[in-house]
Amino acid sequence: MSFEKFFNPESVAIVGASRQKSKVGYEILASMMEAGYKGQIYPVNPKADNIEGLKCYPDLVSIKQVPELVIIIVPAKFVPAIMQQCAKIGTRAVIIITAGFKEVGDEGRELEQQIIQIAGQAGIRVIGPNCLGVIAPAYNLNASFGGTIPRPGAIGYLSQSGALLAAILDMANTNNIGFSKLISIGNKADVDELDLIKVLGEDPETKVIAGYLESITDGNAFVSQAERISHNKPILLMKSGGTAAGAKAASSHTGSLAGSETAYGCVFERAGIIRCNSIKEQFDYAQAFGNQPLPAGPRVAVITNAGGPGIMAADAVEREGLSFSKLTDETVSKLASKLPVAANLYNPIDILGDALADRYEFAIDVVLDDPNVDTILVLLTPQAMTESEGTAEAVVKISRKKPAKPIFACFLGAGKIEDGVKILREGKIPVIDCPESAVATIKVMTDYVRWRSRPKRVVKLFPVNRRKVEGIIERHQRQGIREVGETESKEILEAYGFVTPKGSIAATSEQAANIAQQLGFPVVLKIWSPDILHKSDVGGVKVGLNSEQEVKDAFDLMMYRIPKKQPEANILGVLVQEMCKSGKEVILGMNRDPHFGPLMMFGMGGIMVEVLKDVSFYLAPLTAEEAERMLINTKTYQMLKGVRGQEGVDIKAIAEGLQRLSQLVTEFPQIQEMDINPYVVGPEGTTPIAVDARMSIEK
Ligand code: ADP
Ligand code: MG
Repeated sequence: MSFEKFFNPESVAIVGASRQKSKVGYEILASMMEAGYKGQIYPVNPKADNIEGLKCYPDLVSIKQVPELVIIIVPAKFVPAIMQQCAKIGTRAVIIITAGFKEVGDEGRELEQQIIQIAGQAGIRVIGPNCLGVIAPAYNLNASFGGTIPRPGAIGYLSQSGALLAAILDMANTNNIGFSKLISIGNKADVDELDLIKVLGEDPETKVIAGYLESITDGNAFVSQAERISHNKPILLMKSGGTAAGAKAASSHTGSLAGSETAYGCVFERAGIIRCNSIKEQFDYAQAFGNQPLPAGPRVAVITNAGGPGIMAADAVEREGLSFSKLTDETVSKLASKLPVAANLYNPIDILGDALADRYEFAIDVVLDDPNVDTILVLLTPQAMTESEGTAEAVVKISRKKPAKPIFACFLGAGKIEDGVKILREGKIPVIDCPESAVATIKVMTDYVRWRSRPKRVVKLFPVNRRKVEGIIERHQRQGIREVGETESKEILEAYGFVTPKGSIAATSEQAANIAQQLGFPVVLKIWSPDILHKSDVGGVKVGLNSEQEVKDAFDLMMYRIPKKQPEANILGVLVQEMCKSGKEVILGMNRDPHFGPLMMFGMGGIMVEVLKDVSFYLAPLTAEEAERMLINTKTYQMLKGVRGQEGVDIKAIAEGLQRLSQLVTEFPQIQEMDINPYVVGPEGTTPIAVDARMSIEK
């Protein structure tokens, strides 16, 4: 079934329509009529003959026509029976407004299950239950009790919170913002966010998709769809509530550092989704994407009638990492020909406090032609002579004449600029209430352009020994062991092309000294026990041992102290390991999110990872560019590149390590979390070493 029937049905039945003004059953009917819906409306209510002049039917069957859309408002326990009727008469689009389903407990859950079953068998698509309804302004359809229908526009909105949608509608109507469709998804019993981003993605009336989500039903499908759609249309989402991944007890560093928001951050980044932290932000962005062309680059020109706001905008441009257009000589001399001598002809272009509409018009016109300008921001403060409305008209006029570059307006003030703002909004000029937010919006647009033009994702596959890893994992699963110890973790890593330090286990101090002798000094001693996850914490790591005697002493000390600290630990001996003499310590890790799969982590390594928390995450599988971006997104990156005369390390080699790890965890979904810490990296051309590793697998 196409979703067309939800937005542009030829006829609508309202089951549970009411004569009583305070009831939702009345509100919806009234909204439908007030919006000027052109099709046939059939109120269904066995206790009424007519409502608001419309003939009323006792049930759906009595209508004798097939309403293309049915809206259900009757109490939850009656809904399954109404669904049966829909199935019988052949309606394929149903909106269930009624609450009292999954959200109230087992009984409601059972009712919702019945609905899903009937819908599935009959091929009916259901929006809701427990939702506010659907609005399609272009078709005068207000099948909701959310408020007055807004004007038609380019924003398609979906919301998991009905109440929020009501607020958005009110704000939109006050600010004259238009929508293509608004959909309240409620409990998502059938139609969910995935369906709707697809529908809005293909909808020619929708230029930008915006929404509020609390949960995402099918993580992987959502990511791939959103990524596909983002190439054509921006998706702006507010998201609340994290996933469970961060909440569960983690045994790896990566697991403990992955917060509840990490997965969504990764998903949004990967899919090009623009995250909005407030309704205001979302409106700012939606207006911009919905009404203006995309900027070709990051260069902004500011035209203002006041110095202060111009400087505020300039500061924001700097902070956001955008650039300030350097106007060409031609532009400057053109401006000079007509602007007063006191005007500032350089960016921010100050056309002075007495600027009337015509001066704005002239300046915008000239600056738009400058090849060094990608976006124009027009600032206005209402001074004694300022023509707020006239200026608004001028801005609209020029943007129509020269529509290739985005123009933003920021009229500062309140009452005096109100009418001007209205004109701007009607003329499709995004109006943003302060210079900082305006610049932030320009930045978001620029980032989106960059995301869209990023190279096609190619994930490199390395030749590896999968067999070997399969064997180790199967053996652990058979024995019901979740934690894979250091040796076997390292065998797994070696099978995927990692290099680990040489070493063996010693049971006595004599043995330890012998192994050290063979490895060559200096060596490292590490306590060897399946029960000790973080060896340093119990004094179980001793580095830089330079002689047999030092090794023996260290061995004895560990064997004396650690059993006292951790009497229950089963200590199998001590690992004598060759020592990496130089290099920087980083951490490579993975934590598997139950909805979105493996999240890769990179950061500053060593025993301080949890303290410094200088880490970045990204969704696997990683491309070479993404792996490198993970590095760049940390502060550690500056240090790795080499600061103050220090030699840098092999960045590409670290990125390759991340890609190899990403391949491992993608090919083995049994691996739940893991980290390599430290991964010791040296200068360009040297091979990094996986010094310590741990992983846990599902039972
Ligand atoms: P754990 O993380 O369980 O405490 P590690 O094996 O990671 O134990 O060792 C702790 C720290 O000791 C490392 O972060 C590193 O600084 C140092 N270290 C351990 N093994 C070596 C080694 N072979 N070469 C150099 N430094 C090492
Ligand atoms: Mg470690």
